[in-house]
Amino acid sequence: MIYPGTRTAYAGHRPVLLMAEVHQARSAAHDKHGDNSIEALAADSPRWLPVLVEEVGEIANTLTYDGPGDNTRAELIDAIAVLTAWLDAIDTARKPRTLATTGRN
Ligand SMILES: [Mg+2]
Repeated sequence: MIYPGTRTAYAGHRPVLLMAEVHQARSAAHDKHGDNSIEALAADSPRWLPVLVEEVGEIANTLTYDGPGDNTRAELIDAIAVLTAWLDAIDTARKPRTLATTGRN
């Protein structure tokens, strides 16, 4: 979306760069966690919410008086990485419903 009076070139490609960074974070996390990677979780896995809440907690920790306040942005990227992985799992699991699968005609 282009907003009047903004640096349109910057605003236009910024979301794409952010999603590339999120993709990189997902890939790095997958490499780090191996068999425990969230990338293979089913859409309805009970692990999604605890993993997401852990990342949200890490964001909060960066904002505490003795927390590492310089990595709030990195923790936000981690949380987005979990959210997009969860969305991918939901979207991948979703199959088009046909008359044959619904039993209706
Ligand atoms: Mg984190």
